[in-house]
Amino acid sequence: MNEADSELAAADFAARGYELTDDLKKADAVVVNTCTVRQQAENRALSQLGRLEGWKAARPGRKLFVIGCAAERLGFGTLRHKFPFIDGVIGAKALDGLSEELDKHLPPAGDGTGPTAGGETAPASIFSSPLSAYVTVMRGCSLKCTYCIVPSVRGPAAFLPEEEVLQQVRRRVDSGAREIVLLGQTVNAWREGERRFEDLLDSISSVPGVLRLRFMSPHPLYFTPAWLRAYAENPAIARHLHLPVQSGSDRILKAMRRGYTAAEYLGTLAKIRKADPDTVFSTDFIVGYPGETAADFEKTLDLVRAGRFGFAFCFKYSPRPGAPAKDAPDLSSPCGDITDREMRDRLARLLEEVKITGRDIFTERIGRIEEVLVESARRGKTSSNFNCRLDRECAPGALVRVEVTGAGKTELSGKVLP
Ligand code: SF4
Repeated sequence: MNEADSELAAADFAARGYELTDDLKKADAVVVNTCTVRQQAENRALSQLGRLEGWKAARPGRKLFVIGCAAERLGFGTLRHKFPFIDGVIGAKALDGLSEELDKHLPPAGDGTGPTAGGETAPASIFSSPLSAYVTVMRGCSLKCTYCIVPSVRGPAAFLPEEEVLQQVRRRVDSGAREIVLLGQTVNAWREGERRFEDLLDSISSVPGVLRLRFMSPHPLYFTPAWLRAYAENPAIARHLHLPVQSGSDRILKAMRRGYTAAEYLGTLAKIRKADPDTVFSTDFIVGYPGETAADFEKTLDLVRAGRFGFAFCFKYSPRPGAPAKDAPDLSSPCGDITDREMRDRLARLLEEVKITGRDIFTERIGRIEEVLVESARRGKTSSNFNCRLDRECAPGALVRVEVTGAGKTELSGKVLP
């Protein structure tokens, strides 16, 4: 989500005739896009700001903006007090205000009459390949997972109208994108009137030039029979789903207010696998939620084995101000009942278990026929989200069928079929 927001910020600059640069010395302005989902992310953003003091002072006229979730949480007053050299602060709820803020602080680049100065520009693909473009379909979240700060910094769920989404998709396709990645905190909760997420997927995949559709992150609560039918019938929907579970213990899932049990979550995976047995799943885990016992943690390991994930993002629990779990009365230490050492041990065991299953899922691709979206002459990405080396050159942007012949450390290799 933050990557997509950074691309929108870059588009705001491009509309004023500015160009992106990796070279800080050349930059007239820097935007620090902050995350606050874990304390460590926020700390990193703040130390980055501290390091920019010298850059700002080295040349008069340089501008520094802070955007994103930590900007929302801390606010202009706190940030300016700590870093008086900041020019503008735009929180995650008010990203639309960046343009106005730039007008206040920045002249148009050059003579201001260039082709893009003052105009509308499609967001650049900064983080993904130029063939793959992010399109945000919702902002905020109306669920109340107890560990999560997102609803408080991004606000309740708000869905973009379908026509607006389609316009963005067409713009991205016109700029060369062939894969669209839909973004939203609970992306599959998208709706507009009678229209539901599966309808949106169908209309996007019928836009000429869209070859593949991904989305993240869906929530296990919103996989309806209608969505499952659409998934089975629409080959443009990628066969990789990132479906956060967080824990394998029903007790902890209930405390987290996730809205499902471990069995229900695994039931959802089974239904999706029935719609397409080739689906590869990934997930998120939080280790050391307050009150997590050794028995709870063993259940998480059981879920890793039963769920068979291609990979998983695993994190130590991080108490966040404003998230309900942080204010729970039984939290006497930042980590609740669990020592930091226990958390680290559990995290290491979890990562090991995920690695074993992930390697199996990876090598099981050998012998299969995969659809690969070619990204460079000899490389591409499978629908199941693995990098794949090709045995011959293909045109970037093409969709080719490949027989997987090998699995290296990080990428598959395959033979392009006629
Ligand atoms: S679904 Fe839960 S974890 Fe995800 S953004 Fe909403 S509150 Fe946070």
